[in-house]
Amino acid sequence: MVKKLHYLTTFPEIIEAYFKYSIPGRAVNSGLVDFNIVNLRDFTTDKHRTTDDTPYGGGPGMVMKISPILSAIDALRLPQNSATILLTPKGSLLQQDLLKELSEKDQLVFLCGHYEGMDERIDLYAHYAVSIGDYVIGGGEIASLVMSDGIIRLLKNVLGNESSAEQDSFSHGVLDYPQYTKPRIYDELEVPEVLCSGHHKNIMRYRRKESLKWTLLLRPDLLKKIKLSQEDIKMLKEIKIEIQTFIMDNIDE
Ligand code: SAM
Repeated sequence: MVKKLHYLTTFPEIIEAYFKYSIPGRAVNSGLVDFNIVNLRDFTTDKHRTTDDTPYGGGPGMVMKISPILSAIDALRLPQNSATILLTPKGSLLQQDLLKELSEKDQLVFLCGHYEGMDERIDLYAHYAVSIGDYVIGGGEIASLVMSDGIIRLLKNVLGNESSAEQDSFSHGVLDYPQYTKPRIYDELEVPEVLCSGHHKNIMRYRRKESLKWTLLLRPDLLKKIKLSQEDIKMLKEIKIEIQTFIMDNIDE
């Protein structure tokens, strides 16, 4: 299980702020996980503490130099079961499975790019190249925190209620079921009857069916990747009939 998260960055304040609050803040304060911010400027050799330079071949912007990054990684003296993660829009798209895999490592090192990104050669030194989505943001710090946030909540004893992370969307390959809280009726919108019935078995079935329904409607691609039980298939057939009935009832002749 991850014990330490390292961030190689030229903007340490972004990471510092994240660990002050909420679940990550509590996880650090109770010793469940530790973090280490490495300012890449501490691994430069020139008097201006330069971490970036102009791109070979010309073009706009600056590129982060490879040597401060590699010196910083070396200085960490990482244990065997550690992973170095390069944040880049060119990486593999982040998925819950990867967060789970990384949560089982000993230590993680996030390489946070800026400007036009890092010298391409850094790719050879990273175990993973990860993108948080098909869009470009200004720096790898926020991308690394997106990953950290997903990883920290998977660590043992971090969430108050141990089962919370297990029921999350994607944990079982389907989307989470809808949640409601008081009041029971708000502006004529009622909480589904079954959730107030106290009947555990019916509630479980309702929730599983809702998960399947919303996954079918919003992310059918996910359903193809999981092993469905006989009961799941039965519920999906019911859902199909319910959807068809809904459509027929709402079509104007
Ligand atoms: N020129 C680069 C490109 O088009 O691939 C984008 C550089 S971006 C402005 C600066 C840094 O932000 C990247 O080096 C990376 O660390 C981070 N970044 C931006 N978008 C990202 C994404 N979708 N996923 C992960 N990191 C991202």
